[in-house]
Amino acid sequence: MAEELNPFKIAQEQLDQAAEIMNLDKQAHIILREPERTLTVNIPVKMKDGLAHTFTGFRVQYNDARGPTKGGIRFHPQESLDTVKALAAWMTWKTALADIPYGGAKGGIICDTKSMDERELEALSRGYIRAIGKYIGPEIDIPAPDVYTTPQIMAWMMDEYVNIIRHNSFGVITGKPLEIWGAKGRNDSTALGGMFVMREAAKMLNINLKNAKIAVQGFGNAGMYAYTFSKELFGSNVVAISDSKGAVYDPDGLDLAKLQKAKDESGTVQAYESKNAQKMSNEELLELDVDVLIPAAIENQIRGDNADKIKAKLILELANGPVTPNADAILHEKGIMDLPDFLVNSGGVIGSYFEWVQNINGYYWELDEFRTKLDKIITKSFVDTMNLRNEYKQNGKDIAPRMAAYIIAIDRVAKAMKARGWY
Ligand code: NAD
Repeated sequence: MAEELNPFKIAQEQLDQAAEIMNLDKQAHIILREPERTLTVNIPVKMKDGLAHTFTGFRVQYNDARGPTKGGIRFHPQESLDTVKALAAWMTWKTALADIPYGGAKGGIICDTKSMDERELEALSRGYIRAIGKYIGPEIDIPAPDVYTTPQIMAWMMDEYVNIIRHNSFGVITGKPLEIWGAKGRNDSTALGGMFVMREAAKMLNINLKNAKIAVQGFGNAGMYAYTFSKELFGSNVVAISDSKGAVYDPDGLDLAKLQKAKDESGTVQAYESKNAQKMSNEELLELDVDVLIPAAIENQIRGDNADKIKAKLILELANGPVTPNADAILHEKGIMDLPDFLVNSGGVIGSYFEWVQNINGYYWELDEFRTKLDKIITKSFVDTMNLRNEYKQNGKDIAPRMAAYIIAIDRVAKAMKARGWY
């Protein structure tokens, strides 16, 4: 039977597994299997050929028992409602595991940003906010950037929201440019948070991060900063990196300036040149014999059909949903530590939380304060996850870190729903 790759089915399957292990109340389980609100909107945009094109967009607000819903907006040609629903569920677990006062949401628009000019992108961004504006706000639902959306897009979206409500409201969207009160540190906080988790996991696994071999899938916000931080903070040796066109591998390590030159001039990191550099596919990158593998691109990369070929000691899921449930079981069996997305990449939403806190208070922090607070929160999430895993182990049940993280998050959301009288 073919493996289930529908992300929402996967998210539900993960919830079901955790619910069984933790003996979750049946009513809480039923509520948590579906989102609270799902919006589908169609946005007309006049394109450069003079004709209006209609783009379909989504916003899913999964659960707001612990606070306003929070989650990014993706612009992607293959976006689908089920992907957005899954990502909204994962945001719910992510904010609960980090123990910040939010629920989970996600948004997306089916579009190809590479074929659109700046005016079209601005019109689409503003049109999306006009379509969902009634349902967002600093105390309702707070969007942020994600795949192929940028601080500039957040700025247009915030401005459009302000046009609707007719007064400034910087806390409605996070990931904004610094000029309009984005937070110092937010831009690279997803990757930096992941690095703090990598530091803790490496200690546990006795991996010396200095000169450790690392492969990164993806050269966007998450992947590029994971590359730079692992070199800067730990002196690790990043030997492979990729983008949607493919990967480049160099056993001597990759140089950032050359990578950026290759990307700028040829549109892909594969154009990277050095004595020992070789091109490879994204699949081959995943199977490299490295200490740490960092999937930082898209979902469903490590599946039942390739998990057996993974050789890394530690997988750090910086992307959302890169490992499927079938792969989970195989990796667990092989003794590979796979740290789940909603722990590893929670630095993004923790950073967004800091931005929102600063916006609603009108009081701004320096970078050091941001990073120290991020380290404290995400390290605690890692420790909580490992402690719960050990508790289960002592009771004779060997669960993967993903399950431990799920159990912590679900328990917190279920308790909030219970306290509010939802079941
Ligand atoms: P991005 O748009 O900046 O970069 C995406 C990267 O993935 C690009 O390098 C692109 O070339 C590459 N890519 C696209 N399709 C690919 C494919 N089929 N195979 C290999 N590479 C491919 O996006 P990002 O913000 O870096 O997000 C990457 C992942 O991290 C996503 O799963 C996203 O949900 C997750 N994430 C991002 C943030 C954040 O703050 N940026 C926060 C949490 C989670």
